[in-house]
Amino acid sequence: MSDQNKNLSTETKCVQGGYRPGNGEPRQVPIIQSTTFKYDTCEDMGKLFDLEAAGYFYTRLQNPTNDNVAAKIAELEGGSAGMLTSSGQAASFFSVFNICECGDHFISSASIYGGTFNLFAVTMKKMGIEVTFVDPDCTEEELNAAFKENTKAVFGETIANPALTVLDIEKFANAAHAHGVPLIVDNTFPTPVNCRPIEWGADIVIHSTTKYMDGHGAAVGGAIVDSGRFDWMAHADKFPGLTTPDDSYHGVTFAERFGLEGAFITKCTTTLMRDLGSIQAPQNAYLLNLGLESLHVRMKRHVENGMAVAELLAGNPKVKKVSYPGLKSDKYYDLMQKYMPNGGCGVVSFELDGRDAALDFMKKLKLAFIETHVADARTCCLNPATTTHRQLSDEQLEAAGVPAGLVRLSCGLEATQDILADVEQALS
Ligand SMILES: *Cc1c(COP(=O)(O)O)cnc(C)c1O
Repeated sequence: MSDQNKNLSTETKCVQGGYRPGNGEPRQVPIIQSTTFKYDTCEDMGKLFDLEAAGYFYTRLQNPTNDNVAAKIAELEGGSAGMLTSSGQAASFFSVFNICECGDHFISSASIYGGTFNLFAVTMKKMGIEVTFVDPDCTEEELNAAFKENTKAVFGETIANPALTVLDIEKFANAAHAHGVPLIVDNTFPTPVNCRPIEWGADIVIHSTTKYMDGHGAAVGGAIVDSGRFDWMAHADKFPGLTTPDDSYHGVTFAERFGLEGAFITKCTTTLMRDLGSIQAPQNAYLLNLGLESLHVRMKRHVENGMAVAELLAGNPKVKKVSYPGLKSDKYYDLMQKYMPNGGCGVVSFELDGRDAALDFMKKLKLAFIETHVADARTCCLNPATTTHRQLSDEQLEAAGVPAGLVRLSCGLEATQDILADVEQALS
């Protein structure tokens, strides 16, 4: 992070973070729509391949547009370095796979995004990486008991999608650090405007930028930010990928060459991005940056609308249960006051009396459309039982905490009274 940006407020970083044009250069982040970059000599280029010089050579690994936008997100999170990925899924995968190898184990909160759950439980299992899921509300003793000899990381979601549980970041960070491993936090829902997990002990933060950061439903993307604080060398035997020579780069040891602040992101870029190629398109990075410029203004409105809808629902006898951690009656209200005193997000989950009541309610909505999406400018809704969780029986749905009558409503940026009127008429 450039020192002159470090002490700016979050609002100013949203607008001006990352890219700083020089004399006569474009004011807006330029889209570098080029797969490749030119060099004068083979020797110049060779230095890039040996990681002896920094620079661009192929957009599968790195592109200047992406790096300018990643730098803004890293500044917003208070991290030392960042990178963009093609999706939030790629960010989740890379953040864990940059540390864990076949034969390793990691711990994850059980209350996470469904796509991440499947990635960890099914796909990464096939790669020989084992996960243990823990209840986010578990005691410190229960959390400590989940660690094994080969545990390499802990993962959680600040506000979980769609369960809206709130992670006790300090509890998870303390347990991870006591066992010499980093805490990775998916901070998609609150965004760094409302919560900065690194300030509470998280070591790596990831995002689905597809959601509030883009905020307009325009571009799928992800981001990874490193705090630059986890000391890989202090636990060198656990993280050979970072602390021993890498054959594919003439024996570079990432933690030695790039230090605390650069090792994680440099390794992720030069090995995982090189080999697996999940880069964000520079066009999408440009659109993401337009979203980031207004993130602080938009989050405030999303929270106001979420809170107003949650209060309306909580007072309606047809609603069996409302989950919104900003509500005083919510189980996570106290954690919310600690980690996100200005509110979290605009997503509200609530339960109507069974599947038919939920479908009937959604059919009657006029402003809120039915979409497999959350966290953009337009209010939208989803019934998990008939869509994302369709394969589960009503009993399984109940056990998974997504009863058949559950509706997830993502409050957008429309006028509060219009959203409230829409919800009210659909309930009547
Ligand atoms: C959507 C989402 C993801 C996955 O992101 P994609 O950009 O859809 O790949 C991960 N985490 C959370 C919390 C999400 O909401």
